Amino acid sequence: MVLVVDTASNTATHPARVGRLSLAGLDRARLGDALRQIGVPDKQIRMRVNQLWSWIYVRGVTSFDDMTDVSKEVRAKLAAAYTLDRLEIVTEQVSIDGTRKWLLRLPKRGHEVRAPEIECVYIPEEDRGTLCISSQVGCTLTCTFCHTGTQRLVRNLEAEEIVGQILLARDRIGDWPGAEPPGDGRLLPTTERKITNVVLMGMGEPLYNFDNVKTAMEVAADGEGLSLSKRRITLSTSGVVPEIARWGAEAGTMLAISLHAVTDELRDVLVPINRRYPIAELLEACRSYPGLSNARRITFEYVMLKGVNDSLADARALVRLLKGIPAKINLIPFNPWPGSTYECSDWEAIEAFADVINRAGYASPVRTPRGRDILAACGQLKSESEKLRASARHGAGARVLLEQGKASAAQIENGDSGAEG
Ligand code: SF4
Repeated sequence: MVLVVDTASNTATHPARVGRLSLAGLDRARLGDALRQIGVPDKQIRMRVNQLWSWIYVRGVTSFDDMTDVSKEVRAKLAAAYTLDRLEIVTEQVSIDGTRKWLLRLPKRGHEVRAPEIECVYIPEEDRGTLCISSQVGCTLTCTFCHTGTQRLVRNLEAEEIVGQILLARDRIGDWPGAEPPGDGRLLPTTERKITNVVLMGMGEPLYNFDNVKTAMEVAADGEGLSLSKRRITLSTSGVVPEIARWGAEAGTMLAISLHAVTDELRDVLVPINRRYPIAELLEACRSYPGLSNARRITFEYVMLKGVNDSLADARALVRLLKGIPAKINLIPFNPWPGSTYECSDWEAIEAFADVINRAGYASPVRTPRGRDILAACGQLKSESEKLRASARHGAGARVLLEQGKASAAQIENGDSGAEG
């Protein structure tokens, strides 16, 4: 069963934007700037930022009135100049297995024909909850198995729009102190925090939006706020080799690689960035990834494409390629999308491939994709959404449909991060 909630008219939960900047999602520096703008004296900025930080990122408040330790005068000025609005929900889908998917509308910029939209997916399990977030609207890369790759890049997300996905998800699943769960009886983890892990596997190549993604992950990992351990944050890249070491040194999260092929000849087709950064260079960057160890392994994603990359010879070559790299391999059954030319490997082929991987010492490489029912509805959501705005589009804006790898977000968090020990 799929619940589709059109919240366009749900103004109580998601008030329409009126042009004021939302402070929800900003980092400390920008909160400080916002406070200066309304006349807060320099000597108070640090203290006021700390207050806002706690209300926004620990309590999740959506009204300045709730900030009871902030003076009434400052609260009034804040409310006059800013909001705490979340990203606007266009649709919300809840899978029978508890997976939740939101189509979210970003604040429109002056030059944009219409507000771009992105997608964000929450995958609950008994002992963890993984949020898969987007970093770009569209993508410059054209991985041939990926639906997002058919959509041109519209723009990078701002840091606050990346953080905003976490805030929105926490609102919707009741993941703030004292908040109620959604009440639909769907699975939520038994953990105290319902979002325990974040994966940057949504739309876009996060390393092409390096600074904003880094700022956002600093906000997410801040121990006085959202407090997500960097060992529970995973960045997934198609292989932007020059930025991998920098990301490891500056951001220090877990890493996943969209590998999908064991020869340059094939990877040049499946993941065309390989023509710039071939497999040998990519794996060298992986070997030198800061902090790599058996407890902090790199995840290699491998989508199973019938007759393309799924032979036993491919499996053996994959094991050889990754030798010496503390790694986890995720085999992802391909989910065809409208217009895709690939088919998913037969289950027997996947099992045989997995067997080779297993015997090489990689545990449980294949996982059942989650939220299949709402992933199936994904294409419908897109066409509905595009139909509605066909006249205004002319190619501007893009619809977010999660690429194949994103269906495996839960896999990324199933043991490879080392966070679970
Ligand atoms: S797999 Fe990732 S990098 Fe490749 S086209 Fe899709 S979104 Fe872009």
